[in-house]
Amino acid sequence: MTDTTHTPTPAHAHSDATTKTWTVAEALAIHNTPLLSLVHQAQVIHRENHQPDTVQLATLLSVKTGGCPEDCSYCPQSSKYDTAVGAERMLSVDEVLSKARAARTAGASRFCMGAAWREVKEGPAFDRVVEMVKGVKTLGLEACCTLGMLDESQAQRLKDAGLDMYNHNLDTSREFYGSVIQTRTFDDRLRTLDNVRKAGIGVCSGGIIGMGERVRDRVAMLVTLANMSPQPDSVPINTLVAVEGTPLEAQEPVDSLELVRMIATARIMMPKAFVRLSAGRTRLAREAQLFCFMAGANSIFYGEKLLTTPNPEVDEDAAMLRDAGLTALKSVHHDASIEASSTAAAHHFAHEGSDGPTCGTCDLHPTA
Ligand code: SF4
Repeated sequence: MTDTTHTPTPAHAHSDATTKTWTVAEALAIHNTPLLSLVHQAQVIHRENHQPDTVQLATLLSVKTGGCPEDCSYCPQSSKYDTAVGAERMLSVDEVLSKARAARTAGASRFCMGAAWREVKEGPAFDRVVEMVKGVKTLGLEACCTLGMLDESQAQRLKDAGLDMYNHNLDTSREFYGSVIQTRTFDDRLRTLDNVRKAGIGVCSGGIIGMGERVRDRVAMLVTLANMSPQPDSVPINTLVAVEGTPLEAQEPVDSLELVRMIATARIMMPKAFVRLSAGRTRLAREAQLFCFMAGANSIFYGEKLLTTPNPEVDEDAAMLRDAGLTALKSVHHDASIEASSTAAAHHFAHEGSDGPTCGTCDLHPTA
């Protein structure tokens, strides 16, 4: 799948990476660099732009699971597919805040809330999400939401409630997008990201590999993200979790080295973004995950489940991070209370299992 015959690109050739206009040919050339040279370049750039040996820990909770009218081919929450995930009631603000407290105790600095909605609609459900965001902020956590499409005024309401980040993935390239989703367009997605940015909320947007796309589609998605001005603050890279009952249930798993290439390419093209190793992590051995960190990943979801798909156990993650000498990143917002929570994370890694964390009994967009 990968041509590795050309000459590696020097790391510092991309020092203007955040402002240049990237082409697919350039991105392909980076992606197809011999793997060890690629990872070396990515690691050099990573160290120039991020604290080494730290990983951001985020916890993801589904506040409204299943019954989504969209037709994303990878998603067990779509009402169009017969999967084990049914429509559930929306969680209460108290239920969500109790999970947020547990996530903080377990060491998360960011708490992400997702709803299986096509779009945000004004009304009691959105009012409740706004209250959740306010509550999460009072706990000293960064707040993130993934709620589907939203307009400018809804983005502003979330910003006013204290929302730090909004996740809305492009999923794949513009060219391949129609093979995966028909109920909304690539441009709809870009519009939502624009509304998020205009409101002053951080943009979290990435995609999924392993849906049958070509390498060219993977890097074309990165080109769209990298050419945003400014570039996204956070870029989740997911590997498909093929769920029974979805149209993509029979897809072969992606080789972990393809994931490493994708992460390294994202790191080189978007040096300042947090690159999140997201869905599909359970299939990776510790060594493969650490190779992803070498390639520039510096954020993970931390909790038992990623929405409706499994995630490594909290204690397993704590052991991996501890054994590798990695520590939890303090909040990028430098809030004193969040620093306290990161200190708790460091304590947790040092005394694995002692806190009995209960975070992460959640579901939602499996690709957030
Ligand atoms: S990925 Fe999100 S928008 Fe798409 S079907 Fe699933 S819940 Fe709905």
